[in-house]
Amino acid sequence: MNPADDAPARSVEAARFKLLADYLPAWIALYDAKTQACLFANRGYAEAFGLTEQSILGKTFADIIGPEASALIQPAVDKVLSERVPVSYERELPEADGTPRWIEVHLIPQLGDDGEPVASCVLINDITKHRLAERAVRESEARLDKFMQATVEGILFHKDGYTTDVNPPCCELVGYSFEEMIGRHVLSFIAPDEVGKVKEVMRLGRELRYETAVMHKDGTRIPVEFIVRTMERDGEKLRMTIVRDIRDRLASEARIQHLAHHDALTGLLNRASFMDRMALLMKRAERRGEMLALLFIDLDNFKRVNDSLGHLEGDQVLTTVSERLVGALRGSDLVGRFGGDEFVVLLTDLESRADVIVVLEALLSVVEVPVKADGRALSVTPSIGVAVYPDDGRQADELIQHADTAMYRAKARGRATYQFFEPSLAETAYADLVLEAELAQGLTRNEFELFFQPQVEATTGQLSGAEALLRWRHPQRGLLSPDSFIFVAERHRLMLALGEWVLREAALTARRWREQGLTQGHGPMRIAVNLSRMQFHLDGFADTVKRVLDESHAKGQWLELELTERMLIDDIEHAPTTLAQLRALGLTVSVDDFGTGYTSLAHLTELPLDKLKIDQGFVARLPDDVGAQAITRAIVQMAVGLGLTVTAEGVRTAAQWQLLAGWGCQQFQGELVGSPMPAAEFEAWVRAR
Ligand code: C2E
Ligand code: MG
Ligand code: MG
Repeated sequence: MNPADDAPARSVEAARFKLLADYLPAWIALYDAKTQACLFANRGYAEAFGLTEQSILGKTFADIIGPEASALIQPAVDKVLSERVPVSYERELPEADGTPRWIEVHLIPQLGDDGEPVASCVLINDITKHRLAERAVRESEARLDKFMQATVEGILFHKDGYTTDVNPPCCELVGYSFEEMIGRHVLSFIAPDEVGKVKEVMRLGRELRYETAVMHKDGTRIPVEFIVRTMERDGEKLRMTIVRDIRDRLASEARIQHLAHHDALTGLLNRASFMDRMALLMKRAERRGEMLALLFIDLDNFKRVNDSLGHLEGDQVLTTVSERLVGALRGSDLVGRFGGDEFVVLLTDLESRADVIVVLEALLSVVEVPVKADGRALSVTPSIGVAVYPDDGRQADELIQHADTAMYRAKARGRATYQFFEPSLAETAYADLVLEAELAQGLTRNEFELFFQPQVEATTGQLSGAEALLRWRHPQRGLLSPDSFIFVAERHRLMLALGEWVLREAALTARRWREQGLTQGHGPMRIAVNLSRMQFHLDGFADTVKRVLDESHAKGQWLELELTERMLIDDIEHAPTTLAQLRALGLTVSVDDFGTGYTSLAHLTELPLDKLKIDQGFVARLPDDVGAQAITRAIVQMAVGLGLTVTAEGVRTAAQWQLLAGWGCQQFQGELVGSPMPAAEFEAWVRAR
């Protein structure tokens, strides 16, 4: 090839060749095999050595690349020429300004017709970019290695599931050494129940973040988060997994969850989550045809504890109650606190109402917290209302509403007791509201009245007194017994006014009887007045009695007061003083419905009492029931031994009378003697005797 050739065709071809050669992304040069003088160079080649395409011509290889490089390369050139084979090598060729540059050199022999080399062609590629990229990869791998060692997070590489590399934190997390882990299949570190999930992620080769669990060598299950990436490392496609221990995070999440769903004070379920779980259990019960029981529990006396002792003490009582509730129930039962002193329980796995009663009795016996408030010994007890699924409601709120209604009735029945819901109670719940308004009206409109039931001496049959029993002549509903309205009056404090009315009415009646000479020829003829707990617990109750007596111009000796055991026990601290004050006024005190309050007689011996009225429940079971016989007999004999007068209520038959009289019972009250009568009728009855 002769660049000076001036034949037109050739010159066009040469121009094309030059254009092509100059724009090729490679440097090209041709050296004479013998002289090693440059026969041709494209622009890139010439410029790489600081020359032009013209000035480079004729210069030798050594002139162009310098003696040092030339000496280095000479063996390759010799090899090309002698062996007539192409040779390739890479070398560093910094740019003029010192910027690093790498080139890839191909030496290709050009053979003449005789097969002898005439020239060697040099073809050079700039491979700097490639080299830099490689270096970057190497550096990043080095960095990754460093990172793997330094990070606190576990990192594991695997290929097709087999561990290829793992860092110390990862080894520590699962308790295996590096050597033990390498080569092992990653699934062998996964918790058995999670293997399926992890396998699926591996199969899909997805890059993602998910939660799973690994097994520590010691068998501990460790919840972890995996962040999975596919990476190239040393030319291999690997899966990298970052393993994060999430035990702390789960624990704090659980704490937050717990706070959101539970009552902070007692740790019981709060209303919202109780309702949620209740809904689930009701669905399950519906599917399986099971029975559930919802207990609505309100604490008796709690408000007094809270008001007089403060919230700290109140909280203490609530915590104690909650612990005892939980302790008495099964793990499968739901326990919640709806706020204040309201607790709710959902009993599951029940066969019958009998199962519920067993639980109720257990709760009543364990949930009784004695407290001292205002210097009084009080006991905080539960009043429990029960609604049964599905009989009393199929919806959660309906059950709760019904259990709540039943709870109010339990409270009215004297507290520390339970009450199953009955449909009549639902009507009553609404009726209560009406009743409350009507009660207040009834008082101002004089609709109340006292009936009198005679009490007689066992030995002489002489009239000893009468019990005043409250009646309400309701304008629409007619004559109402106390059982149908007293509990509403008690709930709304109306009982204080009503109780005072009864006391005054009894005092006035007692005076009238004396003025009319009705009492002559009879015993003491005291009128026994029933007290509500609300009256007796009120401070200065004895003063009220004194005032009423004074205002009615009556004497204390004409009246007797009936209290229940519970009223005395709940106020055991103050009761002696109040009782002493009442007796100082001349009144006698009797314990009504004795035998129902679970109090031992010994409890009452320290109190200044006059009389014991045996509950009509015992009397009604006489004479046939042997158990009732034993209890009643024991009560009568002990009471007589303690110097108390014993009255039997609800005596209906002569057989009952005889049995009781035989044991030492001194007074009788009941149908056998006379039913409760309006005042005028009673007075006529007395006169007729
Ligand atoms: P209690 O004090 O035990 O009164 C006795 C109850 O038994 C009365 O019912 C009376 O009528 C009934 N009774 C008496 N003998 C017989 C009998 O032989 N057979 C039957 N079946 N019943 C008999 P009552 O009048 O309905 O009073 C119920 C309860 O209401 C009383 O029980 C008492 O705890 C309360 N109560 C009545 N009046 C008042 C009152 O003025 N104030 C307060 N706080 N409570 C009252
Ligand atoms: Mg009574
Ligand atoms: Mg009674």
